[in-house]
Amino acid sequence: MKTVLITGGSRGIGRETALLCGKRGWSVAINYAGNTDAAEDTAEAVRRVGGKAVTIRGDVAVEADVIAMFDKAAKELGPLTGVVVNAGIVAPSQPLAEMSLERLERIFDVNVLGAYLCARECARRLPLDRGGQGGAVVLVSSVASRLGSPFEYVDYAGSKGAIDTLTIGLAKELARQGVRVNAVRPGLTETEIHASGGEPDRAWRLGATTPMGRPGRAEEIAEAILWLLSDEASYAAGAILDVSGGR
Ligand code: NAP
Repeated sequence: MKTVLITGGSRGIGRETALLCGKRGWSVAINYAGNTDAAEDTAEAVRRVGGKAVTIRGDVAVEADVIAMFDKAAKELGPLTGVVVNAGIVAPSQPLAEMSLERLERIFDVNVLGAYLCARECARRLPLDRGGQGGAVVLVSSVASRLGSPFEYVDYAGSKGAIDTLTIGLAKELARQGVRVNAVRPGLTETEIHASGGEPDRAWRLGATTPMGRPGRAEEIAEAILWLLSDEASYAAGAILDVSGGR
């Protein structure tokens, strides 16, 4: 049995990951930013399939929220053995020349600083030499990190490049302390993130141009995350796994 914290666990890829954890009978802490109804709905769905679930509101870009989130997850569910650093945002498509400072700050605050703060808490709490139980950390990057996302969001793409590099470095820091750190790089996936970027049908519009000719489903990404979390991935560390339909 594992105890897993999922940032941005209430909707999209995070929700499907929570459900797969629940199906294995694991305990799940579901972090979210503001949509309490979605978080409670996901928690209820996790319980229905056999898991234990709590919801934790908090902004990953705020240090105090991140520390409180890790504290609450461990207090309510027991010591964490898995963390999915998944919360991430996009902004409407535009070339870099048009991007405002406010937009750039928010993208990097949530996607980079947020991920680093969560990864730092993992590094403080999971390693055996720090009193933790070891475990697995899975970061959710994007194939945007190697495509660059020109004219859409090079800010987002760069933020995911930082996730890839974090994965490589932290994996080496923690490998001897019982903690495996890996990343999944999804391609175009059907979730509400595209609507938040102003184009609800983006995954289908661009998914049609990929080698598989379709976008991915959130559960197809979640399956890869679950494998990296699980003991079956016992020799995987520092891996960056593309799940992108060949894109
Ligand atoms: P989504 O459907 O938009 O869901 C986003 C989740 O993150 C929600 O649970 C949301 O909570 C939470 N969240 C947003 N900002 C947060 C913050 N500051 N602090 C804490 N939680 C926050 O997104 P998704 O498509 O599942 O994306 C999940 C991850 O996959 C992201 O890192 C994204 O970059 C990556 N990804 C997605 C795709 C894709 O095509 N969908 C492709 C590649 C990579 P609320 O509901 O409360 O807002």
